[in-house]
Amino acid sequence: MKVYLSVDMEGVTGLTDPEEMHAGGRGYERGCELMTADANAAVEGLFQAGATSAVVNDAHGSTKNLRIDLLDPRATLIRGPGKPMRMAQGLERDHVAACFVGYHARAGVRDGVLNHTWMGKEIQNVYLNGEVCGETRVVAAYAGYMGVPVALVTGDEAVCAEARELLGDVETVAVKNGVDKFAAELLPPSVAQERIREAAARALSRVSSLRPYELAAPYTLGVEWNSTAIASGCALIPGVKAVGPRHTEFSTDDFTQIMGLFGIFAMIGGQVACNSGVYG
Ligand SMILES: [Zn+2]
Repeated sequence: MKVYLSVDMEGVTGLTDPEEMHAGGRGYERGCELMTADANAAVEGLFQAGATSAVVNDAHGSTKNLRIDLLDPRATLIRGPGKPMRMAQGLERDHVAACFVGYHARAGVRDGVLNHTWMGKEIQNVYLNGEVCGETRVVAAYAGYMGVPVALVTGDEAVCAEARELLGDVETVAVKNGVDKFAAELLPPSVAQERIREAAARALSRVSSLRPYELAAPYTLGVEWNSTAIASGCALIPGVKAVGPRHTEFSTDDFTQIMGLFGIFAMIGGQVACNSGVYG
């Protein structure tokens, strides 16, 4: 039983501060250790329930956050930028389950700790087939396109609610409860990680009852940008239409193009904003 894990950082146990999300920021190194510990807790539970291999994808920012020297030796790690499938890199059709660890609520959710969608500074809202959409929905839809169900989502209370609303009876673990975007009531790592381990084991043991999250093609990705300049730049990509001064749309029957497009958007957004390409 091959399993897949996409690991973001904003929903990791104990973290609430944007500084903890960026290399060089106060608390970042500790944040990377906590991120790896949450991932390891899920890997441990998955192996207890019969997993035979686990691919872990670092899905945050630079995608160089997880500590390979601390990773469970039964897992492998996908690390580094330039991954065409981004937060879903490495997800294959022969995986029996996908797990999202350290995820966060979509942009605009009150009390969603560090809530945003993909490029926090640049994107107001993302829409998939006309419905507002966060990273959980985008990556779940890609997993569904590949025929793989999402079995586990961990993060704050808000992303767990978002996941259950979207995916039905997926296992969720809330490791913190948001008070505000930058404040939360936290579980200590020993408690949170035990809950993640137990939920991962439960999730895999009942994976045959979980259905992939499948959207009907064609897939339409709408993005409402904060900046008219970035919207104009992105609308130059063949196939991407400007449907308003701050709004672009792209339709395809191939969901891999949606994932790829986020990477191109990040590059353009980064150039226009004179920033590095930040996503996840
Ligand atoms: Zn992130």
